[in-house]
Amino acid sequence: MTRKPLIAGNWKMNKTTVEAASLSQDIAYNYHDSLDDADIVLCPPFIDLKTVNTVLTFDHSKIKLGAQDVYWEKPGPYTGAIAPNMLKEVGCSYCIVGHSERREFFGETDQDINRKIRALLEVGIRPIVCCGENLELREAGEALAFVVSQVKAALADIPAALAKTLALAYEPIWAIGTGRTATPEAAEEVCCALRACLAQRYGADVADQIRILYGGSLKAENAAHFSPQPNIDGGLIGGAALDARNFIDLAKAFV
Ligand code: PEP
Repeated sequence: MTRKPLIAGNWKMNKTTVEAASLSQDIAYNYHDSLDDADIVLCPPFIDLKTVNTVLTFDHSKIKLGAQDVYWEKPGPYTGAIAPNMLKEVGCSYCIVGHSERREFFGETDQDINRKIRALLEVGIRPIVCCGENLELREAGEALAFVVSQVKAALADIPAALAKTLALAYEPIWAIGTGRTATPEAAEEVCCALRACLAQRYGADVADQIRILYGGSLKAENAAHFSPQPNIDGGLIGGAALDARNFIDLAKAFV
């Protein structure tokens, strides 16, 4: 089955509101091609979401808006947190969940990630669920089993009808921000195992609809090695998403 590529830019903790307006404008002005053939998503910091949404709406752009995180509770006394309905109102249709930086620096557990996914699906936001092994697990030959176990835990109690709207992002930790990618073959091996895990859980039809992304030092120059892989349906991009030209060229490699 042909899946629509999904290319999401994770801006992490970068860009003031003024800078976010400029970068999103640059991307929206310059990326006109193939927007019907791919979902392009910008994920700025919370504080920039409204501004980026205004820029994209003003431009009548088909580029979509995503958040980098969410809290699973309904609005209430949770200082510093943002609820799914707040993301929805500001125009988000996607949200990254379980990025390795959130697991490492903010102590997110698989159970937290599962709660976040369920809360997002309840309001119709598509989660981009991250998974990935560290170098130690990779060198010990345990990467596949580890990543599959992360995804199984993340998807606990999520029915097929909702699961088919989410995406997975395989991001080996040792490849994030290091300039060192997985080989396309190694990334494909993990993405293929993830699809097999989805098929076992939800059936082949649903597994075929779920997009699986690769992330980890993707750039315009190396994206074309990953895009032909049968189980890689796009990319989650960090550093290269902060430069309009690089992000656009990278996205085009998947379309
Ligand atoms: C990421 O953090 O999701 C990521 C893939 O970062 P980078 O592209 O910079 O490796």
